[in-house]
Amino acid sequence: MNRAFDEVKKYVDKAAAINAALSLFDWDNETLAPASAAPHTAKIIGGLSGQYMEIITEPAFIKMVEKCEREGGLSEAEQGILREVKEEIEKLRCIPPQEYRTFSELKAESSRIWAKAREEDNFEAFAPTLEKIVEYQKKFASYRAKEGQQIYDVMLDNYEKEFNMETLDAFFCELKESIVPLLKKAVRESEKIDSGFLSAGYPRHSQERVASFIAAYTGFDFARGVLSVSAHPFTTNLHNHDVRITTHYGKRIDSSIFSVIHEAGHALYELGIREDITLTPVGQGASMGMHESQSRFYENIVGRNEAFWEPIYNEVAEIFGKPLVDVPLPDFIKAINKVKPGLIRTEADELSYSLHVLVRYEMEKLLIEENVPVRDLPEIWDQKYEEYLGIRPENDREGILQDVHWSQGSFGYFPSYALGTAFSAQLYHRMKEIMDFDGLLRAGKLSAITDYLRENVHQYGKLRTSRELIKDMTGEDFNPRYYIEYLEEKFGK
Ligand code: ZN
Repeated sequence: MNRAFDEVKKYVDKAAAINAALSLFDWDNETLAPASAAPHTAKIIGGLSGQYMEIITEPAFIKMVEKCEREGGLSEAEQGILREVKEEIEKLRCIPPQEYRTFSELKAESSRIWAKAREEDNFEAFAPTLEKIVEYQKKFASYRAKEGQQIYDVMLDNYEKEFNMETLDAFFCELKESIVPLLKKAVRESEKIDSGFLSAGYPRHSQERVASFIAAYTGFDFARGVLSVSAHPFTTNLHNHDVRITTHYGKRIDSSIFSVIHEAGHALYELGIREDITLTPVGQGASMGMHESQSRFYENIVGRNEAFWEPIYNEVAEIFGKPLVDVPLPDFIKAINKVKPGLIRTEADELSYSLHVLVRYEMEKLLIEENVPVRDLPEIWDQKYEEYLGIRPENDREGILQDVHWSQGSFGYFPSYALGTAFSAQLYHRMKEIMDFDGLLRAGKLSAITDYLRENVHQYGKLRTSRELIKDMTGEDFNPRYYIEYLEEKFGK
């Protein structure tokens, strides 16, 4: 019996409670909080973040963690918790507490500043805040950088272990070479596809009904979750009995439908985490990439598959009414898979999606490693869109201001979207070998697919890294070829 672990656990529980409160404020900020609350809420968040830091960096706690290691005899879950705790200590103890607190306050206010700037299409209004955020994040990363380690690699490590600029450069290079020629061909083919019926002015209440229906059908458990509305769809996880997702409603019904399926994919992951590790430092998804592998698996591999829609299409079309109710299923499937490069990442088709991520990855490298000034970003962004996607934003709202991530200080996050998509294709390849994937979908048995993922991915939380999970499931290390083959098969035809 490791007595020191019991002591460590007391601190960990306190930190987890503060984290849950912080997550709830995040959720509230994006959904229901009144606009004028922001400055006061920022102070509360600053205070809570400061308390969190105090717990993690308290000398008595660190001593206890060291004692715990010496005592040994820990279970797999306990070892995982200790590993995460040590990492968190290492991350935070090198940052001066006052800097950490000021940055937390800045972060709490910056998403409002960004949202306003975006609404008003005014990058200048956001630029000074972004400059400060970049400065803080670079400073924090430099505190942590090991001898010879580059700053952006430190940031990438926050989101996906065992991937750095070297591996990602090779990954994106392979993607670019395959996708760009494929895209040209697919765009030509897609021009004939009619998708006008997806934005035929369906009433909001129909969209809401379908959103709830699709979430439930995908397996989202409304007894342990909430579906709400926000400008940018996202998922908040407090623990495996409280996972919240949002969507948005606009002109295009597919935008809301696929946001719901995407966020439900994130939610299924969090809801599937084992009871004995929820509310602990290992009680959440293995990494951002693994999380995106699940959300994008449900969104694209499941959700854009005709077999998924067969059992439910009539019911959904019925809710929307005309003109959808007169559109045959194969035409609907073609429309939701139409390839047309656009300016907005979250609305991108499956094929051009990773090019949006590539733009951001290259921008972040410039910003962090090459010290390109924040004020030059809009122009560079527009140039890159022109180069890779053949279109140029007409304003910053559809360009540099479209994503929330940088306002949150999340540099190094974006590659997870492309990596996760590649993970999902590799998992899919394996699943097709051992189960009648489309047959299950056609029979309305999506739960059998989810059970398999819960067994092999979800339950473990952070106990295994994404690469370990992939290896255990497929018998092979991460291999981006499966993603490229998937795209070639689907869009090469
Ligand atoms: Zn996502």
